[in-house]
Amino acid sequence: MPTCKLCGRSFDTMSELYAHLRSECTKIPRSRRCPVCGSKYRSIRFMKLHLINEAFVESKHMAYLVSI
Ligand SMILES: [Zn+2]
Ligand SMILES: [Zn+2]
Repeated sequence: MPTCKLCGRSFDTMSELYAHLRSECTKIPRSRRCPVCGSKYRSIRFMKLHLINEAFVESKHMAYLVSI
């Protein structure tokens, strides 16, 4: 069952989990620097988009956000 590593909530599907990360997870780091790869962004919102988008395609970002 896909679980949000940041807040511990579980979901039935990965798409529900990603929707949770995008819209309602309160534990996403409020930083302009990505905690996984160290890239810096113009705003917290851009960092969050990067983190979630990378999690679809890259295993280290995914492992930071998701446990299955
Ligand atoms: Zn969460
Ligand atoms: Zn990153």
